[in-house]
Amino acid sequence: MIGAMTGSLIITGLGPGDPCMVTPEVTAALAQATDILGYIPYVARIAPRPGVTLHASDNREELTRARAALMLAAEGRRPVIVSSGDPGVFAMASAVFEALEGRPDWQMLDIRVLPGITAMLAAAAAAGAPLGHDFCAINLSDNLKPFAVIEERVRAAAGADFAMAFYNPRSASRPEGFGRVLAILRNTCTTDRLITFARAVSTPDQRITTVTLAEATPEMADMRTVVILGNAATRRVGRFVYTPRSAA
Ligand code: SAH
Repeated sequence: MIGAMTGSLIITGLGPGDPCMVTPEVTAALAQATDILGYIPYVARIAPRPGVTLHASDNREELTRARAALMLAAEGRRPVIVSSGDPGVFAMASAVFEALEGRPDWQMLDIRVLPGITAMLAAAAAAGAPLGHDFCAINLSDNLKPFAVIEERVRAAAGADFAMAFYNPRSASRPEGFGRVLAILRNTCTTDRLITFARAVSTPDQRITTVTLAEATPEMADMRTVVILGNAATRRVGRFVYTPRSAA
């Protein structure tokens, strides 16, 4: 058959950390892999075994990693890419499709994306139901977009009273941005708005802290934290935080 390729590539998400949150579909994909590719800490979650080559690489190398996986697939191996959480949320799936642009040969491969439990959903479940009404997710890393775009989106989402989940809120190389986001939120929302800092969700280090916007400080977040801002109706009940199903 002209142009047909039989190689396969599977793009997976390992969930937030707890092995129980890896889906059976992802477990099966990993079991048949010849090669597992991903960012160093994610590949470290895979138990080595004979017959499978682990390719751990640094972050910021997404496109190179995607091309390496596609080349392995084209050679007839069975590569599996691992992301944390869900592979389509600020992760590898988009990088693979970007690598397919202008490569009709790679577009013929059997490529599948297997969903995973993304950090904001595991965090929301641990806190109660803060994402129970309309919400959006914003990546606060300015590695791949200007910070002005982040500020504009946060302002727009606050103006429309969306609850928000913030990924990559604060890192050693980007210590300032999250403070600026908090300042925008304090100017746009009332300061009694609830904000939940969910760190290392589903791991032994898990810590969930809910405060008001007035009490929130940048130091409450790091790279293992997903931050969930409630909407105007988000409230506490007992030890839980939830957003009612109806608009405020
Ligand atoms: N694809 C991943 C997100 C990758 S971006 C997903 O769907 O979850 C990395 C960011 O995800 C981190 O900076 C943090 O904001 C969030 N994150 C990932 N795992 C987390 C966990 N177990 N607990 C809290 N936040 C987490």
